[in-house]
Amino acid sequence: MKMAELGEFGFIDRIRAGVASSAETAGVVRGIGDDCAVLELPPDHLLLTTTDMLVEDIHFRREWTDFANLGRKSVSVNVSDVAAMGGTPHHLYLGLAFPGTLPLEQLDAFVAGFLDACRFYQVTLVGGDTCSSSGPIAISVTVEGSVPKGRFVPRDGARPGDAIYVSGTLGDSALALHLLQEGKPVDPFLLERHINPQARTRLGPILSAAGIPSAMIDVSDGPVSDLGHILERSGSVDALVDEEALPLSEPFRALLQSDRKLLRLALGGGEDYELLFTVPPEREHLIPEAAQKSGLALSRIGVITSGSGILTVRTANGEEYRPARKGFDHFAG
Ligand SMILES: [Mg+2]
Repeated sequence: MKMAELGEFGFIDRIRAGVASSAETAGVVRGIGDDCAVLELPPDHLLLTTTDMLVEDIHFRREWTDFANLGRKSVSVNVSDVAAMGGTPHHLYLGLAFPGTLPLEQLDAFVAGFLDACRFYQVTLVGGDTCSSSGPIAISVTVEGSVPKGRFVPRDGARPGDAIYVSGTLGDSALALHLLQEGKPVDPFLLERHINPQARTRLGPILSAAGIPSAMIDVSDGPVSDLGHILERSGSVDALVDEEALPLSEPFRALLQSDRKLLRLALGGGEDYELLFTVPPEREHLIPEAAQKSGLALSRIGVITSGSGILTVRTANGEEYRPARKGFDHFAG
């Protein structure tokens, strides 16, 4: 069947059928199919809302894309921002613009991947919009989550003396992209980290409930850039990061042996979707329990000092340098 035969409402019905068959999140009074979604927040919680766009040829290329993973990733990158506030994601909205000539199998694969990720993160698609595009595919996802009052973790809370921690391992996604671009074989673990990253939606609420982080962000643009956001927003602080302390996966370490320069990917590469957070000294003793509960390694990679927003990296032999901040800017020349 072609999209022209199915029509917009036929397509929406297909999505709705997929949602109905997946587990509903508590709090959905009315989902897809009315003028508005009707939702309930858990008592004494604040609403968290975030939105993100993925545009063809800017964020992904149709000939390189597996549509199921594109659907999964468009959920993961959004729920990751809710985790970065210490919250739990609940509901999603999907805005989708695509050319009428797009094969229906690709759309179905996208929706299947999207709903698969919704089940994984226990979030429900409750609304959205579809329209035709005269050019590229555009995907806009909005997610709503919640956090108990007084428990949300901002970016601006880092203070001198706080330790800097990160979950999981760094640089895997950027290394996979680097190998793909070089036309080299990619280790399956690294490839999975790139095409199907997992947002740390269990860890975020565990950290906030225990009152551990003073500031937190998810690693989407790379630790240098994302830690830079914490420094900028917190004001009057610097950061000193130990290269030796960066948590690296086994496949990453194996390749690093033959090319030390790859280490820059663990600092500057993006899309790991790990959580990067600062911890006051008196709360560091709570870290092992949070690591155990979340099933994730939590590594201390540096310390916050008083200063003016400068990030310094110390190498194994004690040399110090300031890495260039080059998070992706869509409108930079
Ligand atoms: Mg973020």
